[in-house]
Amino acid sequence: MNPQLDELKTRLRDIASLHNAAALLNWDQLTGMPPGGAEARGFQQAVLARIATEKSVDPALGRLIDDLLPYAESLPPDSDDACLIRAAKRDFDKSQHVPPEFVARAYEQIARSYQAWAEARPNNDYAKVLPELERNLELSREYSAFFPGADHVADPLIDDADAGMKAADIQRVFAALRAELVPIVRAITSQPPADDACLKQHFPADAQLAFGKKVAAAIGYDFNRGRMDLSPHPFTTRFSIGDVRITTRVREDDLGDSLFSIIHEAGHAMYEQGVSTALEGLPLASGTSSGVHESQSRTWENLVGRSLPFWQHFYPDLKAAFPGLFDAVPLETFYRAINKVEPSLIRTDADEVTYNLHVMIRFDLELALLEGKLALRDLPEAWNERYRSDLGITPPDNRSGCMQDVHWFGGFVGGAFQGYTLGNILSAQFMEKALQAHPEIPDEMAAGKFSTLHGWLVENIYTHGRKFEPTELVRRVTGSDIQIAPYIRYLKNKYGAIYSL
Ligand code: ZN
Repeated sequence: MNPQLDELKTRLRDIASLHNAAALLNWDQLTGMPPGGAEARGFQQAVLARIATEKSVDPALGRLIDDLLPYAESLPPDSDDACLIRAAKRDFDKSQHVPPEFVARAYEQIARSYQAWAEARPNNDYAKVLPELERNLELSREYSAFFPGADHVADPLIDDADAGMKAADIQRVFAALRAELVPIVRAITSQPPADDACLKQHFPADAQLAFGKKVAAAIGYDFNRGRMDLSPHPFTTRFSIGDVRITTRVREDDLGDSLFSIIHEAGHAMYEQGVSTALEGLPLASGTSSGVHESQSRTWENLVGRSLPFWQHFYPDLKAAFPGLFDAVPLETFYRAINKVEPSLIRTDADEVTYNLHVMIRFDLELALLEGKLALRDLPEAWNERYRSDLGITPPDNRSGCMQDVHWFGGFVGGAFQGYTLGNILSAQFMEKALQAHPEIPDEMAAGKFSTLHGWLVENIYTHGRKFEPTELVRRVTGSDIQIAPYIRYLKNKYGAIYSL
């Protein structure tokens, strides 16, 4: 129809293909590559990244996009092509702010810092990694400075993950959430802890993986367009709509670790598998933001996978998968065990109620670091102080304190944490809408049927890919901006019943 649009799509498909090929190299590195391949692999990935960057900042691409803007205006605003041209314009403009020299320098520094963290963390050696972290913080400020119109130094970093969100908006949402959460956590922890001994028996790895796969397939993860492998840290990666992979890890003394990480990653993957095939190969063919992505992993992991109806269906299967281990465990005991709330040191092991406190601590600290109000040499003490005041526990060392997460050591300082809690909030906001449309969903889950919920999510969220920015998507789906009320209602309902609050 429009030859310029065809050319735009060809250019954008080329760039996306380079990113997807790099993602495949990365998946291989994390799941099966022999250690000897590391050096050459790093070089190969750097080459692909460089070529993709060159193509993304090509002035000819910018001219082509500008030529197409009037055409986009003539199309229905929600059409795939209009959304594609608008997204291409946003991406291109953003890329123009950042010099390629900086991209290469940042890539190198972050690789070096990640390596230093990986070596220093087991030894608890914060001093060793401190100089690298200083450089990462400097890089993060330098990156932010490429966007001089920003209200807050963190805004450009946040915008990369959660487009359109600003530090001030998030601080407001988080402050309101924190005011509601702290009393809930206090009320729960003043009661005797739930008994989760049934989850800490010996569960053979093969049986865990088989059961996890069965659950993932039942909720809607399509293994004809995906697969599951082992890696030290679970993740989801996509090379096309037809190839979206997940990984997990297994601990034979802890049933929950693998099972809920599988459901979590399957949630991310179902989002990617649900994108309209009309968008295949284009930059719109992926989730729209880290917050919306996390809302889907959390929907399936917590709102579905840790719900009573879900286990009314799956508990007999679980008993059959691990003969004898649950004979003396009533469903109610198991349900309380998988929803045990307990302040803990490690974010990734935290329950769904305290999890957000971990995220808010990191978010506040990274804002203070970026603003220059907190010096990195004082980070361990500031971190420990917040754990004392917010969770009532003190990390015994930096390994289980400020060195636990890869984010600041393997990337910029800023922009990487807020999505987790935005996701928790959005999961409940979306779910309320789904339940209004289909009140039968809980009963269906108890009967092992997940297609109504999955279908609603595909139709309202997944199919759009990146066509709409997160704030617009949230408005389209829920009729309002992000709101904490549904999430608070969800927590009070669920934990009110479990802990008789
Ligand atoms: Zn996730």
